[in-house]
Amino acid sequence: MRLAQLPQEFVGAQPILATLEAAGYEAYFVGGSVRDTILGKPIHDVDIATSAYPEEVKALFKRTVDTGIEHGTVMILDHGNGYETTTFRTESGYQDYRRPDKVTFVRHLEDDLKRRDFTINALALRQDGEVIDLFDGLSDLKAGVIRAVGDPEARFGEDALRMMRAVRFASQLNFNIEAKTLAAIHTHAHLLSQIAVERIHDEFVRMMLGTAAYRGLTVMIQTTLADYCPGLVGHTIDLSTIATVPELAPKNEVEVWAMVAFHLGLSYPDTVEFLQAWKTANHIIKSANQALHLAYAQQYHGVTKQLLFAMTPDTIAAGTNVARMSGYGPDDPNEWLTLYNALPIQDPHDLAVSGADLIKKMGLTPGPAVGETLQKVQNAVIDGKVNNDVDALLKYVQEKILTTDDASTKK
Ligand code: ATP
Ligand code: MG
Repeated sequence: MRLAQLPQEFVGAQPILATLEAAGYEAYFVGGSVRDTILGKPIHDVDIATSAYPEEVKALFKRTVDTGIEHGTVMILDHGNGYETTTFRTESGYQDYRRPDKVTFVRHLEDDLKRRDFTINALALRQDGEVIDLFDGLSDLKAGVIRAVGDPEARFGEDALRMMRAVRFASQLNFNIEAKTLAAIHTHAHLLSQIAVERIHDEFVRMMLGTAAYRGLTVMIQTTLADYCPGLVGHTIDLSTIATVPELAPKNEVEVWAMVAFHLGLSYPDTVEFLQAWKTANHIIKSANQALHLAYAQQYHGVTKQLLFAMTPDTIAAGTNVARMSGYGPDDPNEWLTLYNALPIQDPHDLAVSGADLIKKMGLTPGPAVGETLQKVQNAVIDGKVNNDVDALLKYVQEKILTTDDASTKK
């Protein structure tokens, strides 16, 4: 197959491949960008593979950076762009079920393509548009199939992360996993426990954000991969309820985790523990918990202005989406955001009186009572019981709080 037109990202790199070829080496575009181009999808990173050894690459180009020279990767700088160029290589060892113990540079394209994970990722593209397809990746692309290159049993035994990559691609591309590849995932699922959680986390989130997350989730359940992920063992039924959500489309990582925690029925402290076990960033944990709060409120006891006040527009949007995907309204996706925007104040700092005002003007004794009074004032403002201006608030404190409170709060 020959592609008539190459995407702009490839066109910019054509002179680099041409230079390598003119010097007698082979050079190809490889990896995800070739797959995505054939699928008509936008591409992000342009990877180049060449028969030239790193020192030979460096001798041909004026400006290069050793970005991963021990693995054969050199970045070639050209007209403000950087192109990662990797020498054809084979890998061996894999004693930790992840990284090869040994990388060997080779001169033949086939050896390099053979070490790649799936046939759809083992295509090479010449700078003239010719596609080199040594493992029938094109027919798998056409049929929508994820198939391991070579013996799937061996490939997952070498690198267990490939199993998570398979479910991630199944979701992103809406592809089926071929039967033998699927069976090998089942056999090797337990090896996932050898993989760094950060790597599993990355693939899991990308899978959940893919267009067919239900596919990935279903495979994770079927093959028992899920049992080797933090906090998911014993939650097969909860996970299947996520997989059967008709319009499962979390928009970002916060929504992914709030969705999972919601369907697992986790409490807030358990959500923190669960997400920490997944090595999730703290700011994501915080936001996911807020979104979860909104979803639970929607499901059980109703959403209050006080709850919205404690959130941000982003977490309100996330919580709304999680509740809606899970079948708990609101009908209008903007309902809570509109209510939030209409709140008289959106931040404690917006309150027209401060603790100092209460001490100076109302004679309160410095101490916890000041904070408690401020809290009451803030709630009253949020609920629309009093206007957020100094005089109205001081009057409110005098009439509604101090007169009903213990006299000890006054000097
Ligand atoms: P994307 O960039 O969209 O995530 P990709 O296929 O480009 O998808 P990368 O992780 O960028 O994935 O890897 C580039 C290429 O390197 C892959 O297409 C594949 O050929 C090869 N590859 C990456 N990870 C592995 C792996 N764990 N085992 C074997 N080959 C791999
Ligand atoms: Mg890539």
